[in-house]
Order: sequence, then structure tokens, then C-alpha cells
Amino acid sequence: MEKLQGIPVSPGVVVGEALVLDAEGFRIPERFVSRDAVQAELERLDHAIQAAGEEIARNQDTVSRELGPKYGAIFGAHLEMLRDAQLREELEEMIRREHYSAEYAVSRTFRRYAEVFQRLESAYLAERANDIYDIEKRLLRHLLGRRREQLSHLSSPVLVLAHNLTPSETANLDRRFVRGFVTEVGGPGSHTAIVAAALEIPAVVGTGPFLTRVSGGDLVIIDGDNGLVILHPDEETLARYQYEAEQARSLAVRLQSLRDLPAQTADGVRIELMGNIEFPYEVDHCLERGADGIGLYRTEFLYLGCDKEPDEETHFQAYAQVVRAMGDRPVVIRTLDLGADKVPCVARTEEERNPFLGLRSIRLALRNIPMFRTQLRAILRASALGNVRVMFPLISTVLELRQAKMILGDVMEDLAERGVPFNRNLPVGMMVEVPSAVLLIERFVEEVDFLSIGTNDLIQYTLAVDRTNKDTVGLYNPTDPAVLKLIAMTVQVAKERGTPVNLCGQMSSSPIYTMLLLGLGLRQFSVTPSAIPEIKQVCRCVTIAQCEATAQRALSMENARDIRSYLKEELRKYVPELGG
Ligand code: PEP
Ligand code: MG
Repeated sequence: MEKLQGIPVSPGVVVGEALVLDAEGFRIPERFVSRDAVQAELERLDHAIQAAGEEIARNQDTVSRELGPKYGAIFGAHLEMLRDAQLREELEEMIRREHYSAEYAVSRTFRRYAEVFQRLESAYLAERANDIYDIEKRLLRHLLGRRREQLSHLSSPVLVLAHNLTPSETANLDRRFVRGFVTEVGGPGSHTAIVAAALEIPAVVGTGPFLTRVSGGDLVIIDGDNGLVILHPDEETLARYQYEAEQARSLAVRLQSLRDLPAQTADGVRIELMGNIEFPYEVDHCLERGADGIGLYRTEFLYLGCDKEPDEETHFQAYAQVVRAMGDRPVVIRTLDLGADKVPCVARTEEERNPFLGLRSIRLALRNIPMFRTQLRAILRASALGNVRVMFPLISTVLELRQAKMILGDVMEDLAERGVPFNRNLPVGMMVEVPSAVLLIERFVEEVDFLSIGTNDLIQYTLAVDRTNKDTVGLYNPTDPAVLKLIAMTVQVAKERGTPVNLCGQMSSSPIYTMLLLGLGLRQFSVTPSAIPEIKQVCRCVTIAQCEATAQRALSMENARDIRSYLKEELRKYVPELGG
């Protein structure tokens, strides 16, 4: 049994069989073959080596011809290694003696060689590890027959273990069969993490390397509550997790009974509890849990899996589905937040060195006005169908906000001229997710009808810490005093001016922070739909006075870790069943 600690990004516990994808998405299959399949396995290996050898020789010829023999020699070295008798002997021995599959033998052997190179002091030699990986991939391609595993063509339940999954790959996981996933890389605020929560499957990211120690079909536990991954669990651990899963199921059933009760504190203050969605189907997840509305609709996920821009009708149909389903409850449609780690963007052509500080989100929209106008037209048309609000992301200057509003006004004129119905008084809001927006919040509130605090980005930009990086996860703290101060400043000014303010970052989905946020004056949250029952339960168990005392004490504390432990204690005290 082996335990790995990663970052929990989507709650729940699941036990199942692994489907392992390596760094390039190759599936590493079952480790063993039966005794009578050994000969066939040796023949498969032989064919793969032959085919890979011919391919490399062809590359060598082409490159030598076009660039000269010096460059062709790179492939010559690959060929030599591939045909090395000792290597061949090692591979065959693993198949003969251990009954390993050919793929598994290739993967194990080449990785071991690569690791030796990587450990060498010389940067030049360490680089050679890449050559070894290259040969491994080539062989695997011949053994497996196709380049990347088609995660959409699964036929039995699996837990996906991968080096990395992009937000698009995650969104395209087949929810009927993928019951959970783990990635070696990835940070707590990455959009892969956000999509995992939308899929409502347990997920852990940022475990560090482990894929060489597991193979397809192995038994694995993913504990998405605590960020743990257990490979080859023993009987006792399995039994414990099965018991815990049972407990969690009965808690979920108890909380489900809150569905039709209002999110209201024990002293009668009504809290608005809305859902964050990425895909229209999630409206059902919100309605099932009695959400008061959609507080954040991340529309950029409409771009997933498309190689061209969605047209106005595609936008409109998606929005109309959500708005109609929500009846008269509010739906906050956020304009496109493309770029950075989110959704390969058709609108951007050049690679950026600092994509999170670059042309993302509203900046990209303002550079691509036809695309922006298409979306705004669709939002405005949807506004005739229900209680729609529009929100601009990543606003960092007042000018930027005014520009976005001006384009919106322009599109309104256009529609009015054409007699297309829409809500002239469509409420306009902005995300508060950049420190500059907080510092000048007095000016911003003059310009908008509502605010929504995006802590995922606010944490990243306040503390200068990449939300997708596992190596800086220790700094990515919602409870950092600097972050709390910015939230407090925003809420205070919004209250003074009577501007509604919501908090829609992931922080609002964790019951640990609910008392603190209520104590800071927030009365609206937009959360991952699966978190609605728990957050409602916290609201119903506490009074505003208790929350204010908690927030005051937290604000007086020195560091993120102490504040977090204190908030955990408070949760345990007031809502023991959620305090873990
Ligand atoms: C945020 O930054 O907190 C937010 C809600 O936006 P996103 O996670 O989509 O960047
Ligand atoms: Mg954001």
C-alpha cells in the first residue's frame, strides 16, 4: 500500500480500478499477461522494435538529407539504443520472468534509464533523458496502436490517473465511467479543479510523480476530501474507507432535507445561496439543491472542444436553457473569461510568457470586439426570458469597465433598432478579483449595479502566487490576512453605498470559511452546486453575532495557518457534523 498526499479539489471518496495515462496521454495498460501469452508478448515487442527502428531510420535519412549528417546522427543514436542487445535482453527477461506486458516492460525499463540520466550532475546528460522518453513513446505508439487514449470511449468504471489533464480534457471525461481522477501536477485554483467540481467526481491534483508505480487495473482509493490517493490499499484501509463513504452518504441524505428550507441564520438573517456553473446541465444540480439563483455562469466553457468560435445562436441557446430553467431566479452571466489556463483560445494567436498577467479575460474581449459583441447580443436576447444579469471579469481599471459598458450600450442600441426584445435595465456587475479593483473600490461601485468577489484570482494576484502551481500551494491561502483585508474592504464599501456584493470564488464553497465570510458582512454566496447543502447548514446553525466575533478574532491573527485552524475549531463548535 502507498499513500500520496495531493491537493483536494473535488470532494468525495471513491474506490476503483485505475486507468493510467502518462505525461503524453498514453495509457499504461495492465501490468501482467498470462503464462501462455508470454510468447505472443515477445513477438509484439519484436514487431514494435522493428517498426520503431524503421521509422527512426527514415527520420535519420530525411534529416541528414535536409540538414546534414550531423543532425541525422541524433536519430542514429536513438537507433543504436533501440537496437542495443543488453536493453533487448532486459525487456525480454521482464516479459519472460515476470510475465509483464510488453508495454509495461518498455515503460518500466525506459523510465529507469531516464531516471539515471536525470540524476546526473551534467545538464547535458540530464537532457538526454528526453531522448530516452522519445524512444519509449515511439515504442508505445507501436504497441498501443494509437496516440492518445480516447477517454470518451470507455466502457467500464475507472479512476483516471494522469500526469496532467487540461480543463478541456477534464470537461470531456465521460461521467458515466470516470468516477474520479488524480493528476501529478496542478494547483488548487486551476480550472481543471473547477471543472472536476462541476463533474461532481472526487479529484486530487498535484500529488507529484507516482505514475511509474501504478498500472492499469490496480485498485486505488481517491479521497477527494483530504487530498489523499491510496495505491494498492490493504483490507483494513478499504474497510475504513467503505465505512466513511457510508457515513458521507447518510450525511448527504440528511442535508438533502434542507433543500426547501431557506438559507437563513439562526437569528433569522436571510442569506442568498446561489450556484456556480460552467455548463447548462449544471442548472439541474443547482435546482436539486434549492439554489436561490446562478451567481456565476462561466460562459467561456462554451468554447470547450470547439475549434471555431461559437456563433450567437450557440451562445443564446445555452443561456436560454439556463435562464428558462431558473424561472424568475437571478442568473448572473459572466462574459468570456478566456485565456491563461482556461480553454484553448481561438482568439489568441501568440504564446505568452505570463498568461495570467497577459491577454486574458476582459482584456481579450476588448481586443476582439466582434467576438465580444456576439456574446453580448446573445446575453441581451436571453435577458428577455428571465432574471438575467451581466458581469465583466478581471476588471483592473475603471477605464476598462467603462469601455465594456460602452460596448454593451452600443449592442443594446443595435438590438433596439432591429426591434429585438431585451431588458433595457439589465443589471451590470463586475468581478472584484484584482487588488487594484479593491484599492479603488469607491470608484468602481459608482459604475456598477453589483459586485462579485472572485477569490480564486484575488488570492493569486494579491500574493503573487500561481493558482495552478502545486509547488506554491503553501502560499495560496484564502485565509491569508492580506486577502481577508481586501475582502473586508470591498464588503464595507459596498455596504456603505448599498451595492449588493457576492462572493463566488471557491472559498465560498468550503464550510470552514462560511462563518468568517458572514462575519465580514457578506450575505450572498455563489458556490459549487454540490456544496449548497453544507453551506446552508452552516448558515442555519449560527448567528450573525457569533460570526462577527469569529471574523474579528480571525482578522486580528497573524498568519493564514493560525486563522484556518481557528476557523476549523469554530466550525467544529457550532456545526459539529461538518467540523470533521
Ligand atoms: C475567481 O477568480 O474567484 C472566479 C470565480 O473566477 P474564475 O475561477 O473563473 O477565474
Ligand atoms: Mg477569476
